[in-house]
Amino acid sequence: MSIEIISLIYGLMEDISPRCSIMECKSFTTLPNMETGLHERDRAGVQDFVLLENYQSDEAFIENLKKRFKEDLIYTYIGQVLISVNPYKQLPIYSDAHVKAYRNKHFYEMPPHVFAVTDNAFRSLIEENRGQCVLISGESGSGKTEASKKVLQFIAACSGNQTTVEGVKDKLLKSNPVLEAFGNAKTNRNDNSSRFGKYMDIQFDFKGAPVGGNILNYLLEKSRVVAQMGGERNFHIFYQLLAGADETLLQELRLERALDRYSYLTDGLNGSVTSINDAESFKQVQQALSVIDFSKEEQRDIFGIVASILHLGNIGFNEVEGNAKVKSRDLVVTAARLLGVNASELEAALTHRTIDARGDVVTSPLNQELAIYARDALSKAVYDRLFSWLVQRLNISLQAKEVRGGRNNVMGILDIYGFEIFQKNSLEQFCINFCNEKLQQLFIELTLKSEQDEYRREGIEWIPVEYFDNKVICNLIEEKHKGIISILDEECLRPGEPSDKTFLEKLTQKLSLHHHYVCHEKAPAHIKKIMLRDEFRLVHYAGEVTYSVNGFLDKNNDLLFRDLKETLSKAGNGIVRSCFPEKELRSLKRPETAITQFRASLNNLMDILMCKEPSYIRCIKPNDLQTATIFNDELVLHQVKYLGLMENLRVRRAGFAYRRTYDLFLERYKPLSKSTWPNYKGPGGSKAGVQQLVKDLGWDEEKFRVGETKLFIRWPRTLFDTEDAYQA
Ligand code: ATP
Ligand code: MG
Repeated sequence: MSIEIISLIYGLMEDISPRCSIMECKSFTTLPNMETGLHERDRAGVQDFVLLENYQSDEAFIENLKKRFKEDLIYTYIGQVLISVNPYKQLPIYSDAHVKAYRNKHFYEMPPHVFAVTDNAFRSLIEENRGQCVLISGESGSGKTEASKKVLQFIAACSGNQTTVEGVKDKLLKSNPVLEAFGNAKTNRNDNSSRFGKYMDIQFDFKGAPVGGNILNYLLEKSRVVAQMGGERNFHIFYQLLAGADETLLQELRLERALDRYSYLTDGLNGSVTSINDAESFKQVQQALSVIDFSKEEQRDIFGIVASILHLGNIGFNEVEGNAKVKSRDLVVTAARLLGVNASELEAALTHRTIDARGDVVTSPLNQELAIYARDALSKAVYDRLFSWLVQRLNISLQAKEVRGGRNNVMGILDIYGFEIFQKNSLEQFCINFCNEKLQQLFIELTLKSEQDEYRREGIEWIPVEYFDNKVICNLIEEKHKGIISILDEECLRPGEPSDKTFLEKLTQKLSLHHHYVCHEKAPAHIKKIMLRDEFRLVHYAGEVTYSVNGFLDKNNDLLFRDLKETLSKAGNGIVRSCFPEKELRSLKRPETAITQFRASLNNLMDILMCKEPSYIRCIKPNDLQTATIFNDELVLHQVKYLGLMENLRVRRAGFAYRRTYDLFLERYKPLSKSTWPNYKGPGGSKAGVQQLVKDLGWDEEKFRVGETKLFIRWPRTLFDTEDAYQA
């Protein structure tokens, strides 16, 4: 029997005859299954890397993950951090019995599991009123979104069951299929890849029942709406609509089922994907929309927009004497009808551009290339704003009716894109990797640094562990006036003829001496060989990435011609109208650039996360083939490195596995010595009491340290033995 099964049974037995109350158990560990016999460990590895003997070795680390993966043990801890390896198959470890087994158990009492992390966070939230966040990271396909769903599943299963609460839970759970339909797509790495970042707050009342939620979305990959790479698809919803809509709806939207009729769907993979059932998913989306109280009219408007984008994509242009003319007016009429705008106005807006230069209004025709650009910009903008509208609309539905129990009763779940290194990296990858730098900074702040700070504060002598602080890279990117973002914005806003090339020149001029910036001219020979002249390279904490500046300015300006905005602001489709408000047109302020908006939303996210207690789930994908059987050592090692797991382990190992305040420790273990039972009466309070107690227990010096306010215990084993003695 595997150790996980043994301990599950153990856990279930515990439910029947609890050994100690939740509060008592909370601060202490009992771990019947952690220190298993050698034989078992040989087969299944250690379930906490802290126990790994050869902890400095990459090979030993990978070997342990591999052993466990082969035994279907996908979860392993580094202290409190959960590492999850995508099994690429359904494992029977998420049943109601499992939820029950993990509920109200101390963290180390059960085998590592996403439920244990959630339970731990949930209890801190309820019992100590400390806001929580579960931060899930890893590269595409590593299992972040699945993990976030398990967190939600656990919370839904073990929190309140009154009718109103059930309603909230239902909405929280149903928001997933909606967001996935519109925000996920099949990519070459993941058949259900999230193409946006998501942070979801769940709000609880003082009894721990969910009463509401709020979702923040980050940077949807809107370029996918108009073009996809070979083997990839557009967002799921397009295929779902074509496969799942009934004939009446299809007619209303003037759509045909055949995918190859739509040019926005024919770039990449033109067909269905075995792992995806679009028609079935469409039903789920419709059902979810109803549960979340989307009105019939709203649903009609949503699908109207999706359909209009498919029609827009088919609008072609001829060029007559340098002026673009639409090829088929019918398509314009159909798209216009769905958006609720005037067809002639739309046609004019697709082929002309009006510039209002301080009152001087000039309209000029677009050539074919620019008309295509305008059309695609329109499709992207409409889809992107529809997505944000959906999130806002979900939030209205999820809003807590009445919040009792304080603002801290919030648990956040962050499921955001991992570090990306592609063949060609552009502004999107730059943003995503910047986001990961910020999250790494947060990780350092909250775990590595705070761990070391605590030792310092408590006056504990120890050898500081070296770790790379990536603040220097964050600064390189975001520092005011000097960083890459400022340079990019300056270039975008500057009069004259700024271009990607001039932007790159500025970068090189200002940053070429920076250790983390590599320009073509100064690159070492072996790098120069693989770099092009329109590229720059950043030495990220997770590795080096070469970015091509092509399109940086354009994407950052994120221009939608004024004529199109104006047309949409008068749309009959209510969603479109609210997404393109007239006041945006009247505003004299230049709209913020894409990167500035992104930076602001990231900084806002950091503020939210900083004041919460974090739990980390680090996801790893075992292979690039989305298959259950292969564990690719090299691929895993790469992820282990860039997730900073070895550093994390070194800090954890160098330090002390457990620490407890003297009061808590003494209260629990005072029965173990005559000098402390029933109460310690000597001078020096609980600190002296604990010192006396550990002396009586015969602990040698190596096992512990005495801090200012806490006892620090080096090994879990010491605590297990003490707990065993206590139980006896
Ligand atoms: P992306 O960054 O592309 O959104 P991701 O990290 O969110 O990727 P997921 O979509 O969560 O990745 O996982 C990819 C696929 O792996 C899932 O669709 C599912 O098939 C499988 N998978 C992930 N985690 C699990 C799990 N715990 N059990 C079973 N299958 C899983
Ligand atoms: Mg995902």
